[in-house]
Amino acid sequence: MTAYDDQNIFAKILRGEIPSFKVYEDDDTMCFMDIMPRTDGHCLVIPKTPCRNVLDASDAQLAAVMATVKKVSNAAKAAFDAEGISLQQFNEAAGGQEVFHLHFHIHPRHSGVPMRPAGQMGDMDAIKGHAERISAQL
Ligand code: AMP
Repeated sequence: MTAYDDQNIFAKILRGEIPSFKVYEDDDTMCFMDIMPRTDGHCLVIPKTPCRNVLDASDAQLAAVMATVKKVSNAAKAAFDAEGISLQQFNEAAGGQEVFHLHFHIHPRHSGVPMRPAGQMGDMDAIKGHAERISAQL
């Protein structure tokens, strides 16, 4: 398996080298908004320690990340009055992964409302407001 590269974008966010709209943080994990949101409230949960994805993550990293995924999912569901939550998680390029630091996508969902296409930059003011809405539920 390819080695972890500490120059990936999420490693830079963890080190504070590039900005993010932070939603939640504890000793082991962080959650911040996706800047190309496919749903309102689309956010990402990552471990603070390095691993590429599920395939090389330790059981402890996975346990910590999933606990935060559950916590933030419930907060996002409440913040957006959502009917459900979709989780996405990709492993290696062939699996759809683009940033090689383990992350889970959290998407608040409403019946009949499709996700937007990937790769479209969001409105930063709106994303900031969405982060605040989720944080307020935590
Ligand atoms: P993937 O690795 O396929 O799960 O996708 C990586 C995700 O990271 C995409 O949804 C991007 O929109 C998102 N992304 C890329 N750069 C940033 C950034 N600087 N801040 C927040 N999200 C980002």
